[in-house]
Amino acid sequence: MPLFPDAGLSAGAIRDALAAFKEGDVDWRRGRAPMYVFWPGAEAYEVTKDAFVSYFSENALGTRAFPSLVRLEQEVVAMAAEILGGGPDAAGSLTSGGSESIFLAIKTARDHARAGGRLAGQGRLVLPSTAHPAFNKAAHVMDIEVARVPVRADFRADVGAMADAVDDRTIMIVGSAPSFSHGVMDPIEDLGRLALERGLWLHVDACVGGYVAPFARMAGYPVPPFELSVPGVSSISADLHKLGFAAKPASTVLYRSAELYAHQRYRFTDWPRGAYDTPNLTGTRPGGAVAAAWATLKFLGRDGYVDLARQIMGIRADLEAGIREIPHLELIGDPELALFLFGSREIDINAVADKLEEKGWLVGRNADPPAIHFFLTPIHRQMVDDYLADLRAAVGTVTQQGLVAATVEATY
Ligand SMILES: *Cc1c(COP(=O)(O)O)cnc(C)c1O
Repeated sequence: MPLFPDAGLSAGAIRDALAAFKEGDVDWRRGRAPMYVFWPGAEAYEVTKDAFVSYFSENALGTRAFPSLVRLEQEVVAMAAEILGGGPDAAGSLTSGGSESIFLAIKTARDHARAGGRLAGQGRLVLPSTAHPAFNKAAHVMDIEVARVPVRADFRADVGAMADAVDDRTIMIVGSAPSFSHGVMDPIEDLGRLALERGLWLHVDACVGGYVAPFARMAGYPVPPFELSVPGVSSISADLHKLGFAAKPASTVLYRSAELYAHQRYRFTDWPRGAYDTPNLTGTRPGGAVAAAWATLKFLGRDGYVDLARQIMGIRADLEAGIREIPHLELIGDPELALFLFGSREIDINAVADKLEEKGWLVGRNADPPAIHFFLTPIHRQMVDDYLADLRAAVGTVTQQGLVAATVEATY
């Protein structure tokens, strides 16, 4: 039987089929997913969804057709700049996600270097080893070389070692705020000083932290400066579709000045249809994502985001307290925000993860060091007790079975 039907299915049959397909997916509504879905509470979730649907058909490529989308996007970018330390001259775009924001920042840095006569051939990126793979993906597409520099024992960027790795083809250095793998903030102020001393473009990857770190700081948690306001920072990426709680796909990329941002645009004129001029990598763009991002920021406001940051930090504190009480487990590093990980020097943490998956938990696994990894959102509040009970049982079983840890470097 071919999959493509001769006669179309009924609307009801489509609905039933999709509901049935979903049955095998992770139960994120019960907090069983360690990442992927970010939930701001029932009311904000509905507001975001309604806004998305109200612009379901509109296309943000059509700036003449949909001036309302131009305005909504400009307001989202302006709000992002207010949240992320942009000065009066800051500029940027709403993109489809962290990967596109990073791709565009690299392209912009490269074209800026070329326009200034500082780069003739192939460019080079200098990254901490914990930087997101999106940098390598973008560098692969644009044929840019990448140097990944090992991080310090506390998993933060080693600024001295990065300085040694910089050469005259280096178009960008990067710090994460925080890194996805270990959840820790790189020393952005030190990287900013390096950037100023050597005339380098510093990109801050705040994809995972940009819309929670400023609010966690307002709630009283210690968060070091990482924003565009840090001297030496040229660009920053921050994902609205993670802890901005907007609908996918939505991220922001911001630049210190409109002059830097100007290098992001791509214009092609040798086409029968006329000039084609876009700021982004994508052409057609979902109007729904633009409207949903605007609606979420406006609905939650600063107080809403501060409250969500507090909820997340509270869940993390409760999970960490429970994990500290379970023998053989230990927390790894000293993460600042919504990401944390734990492992063991004594028992096989991957065997523990296997047992948890048998109980219906999807487990985030870190490779180096071997660890269980969480990216928290307020939906996880309801799972704390169940999770800790299942974790304790899983550790008990693994301990009884004598599954010891593979050689783990004692770096945490
Ligand atoms: C998620 C993430 C990215 C990539 O973002 P996508 O939206 O998945 O494309 C890049 N950097 C960091 C730190 C991230 O957490």
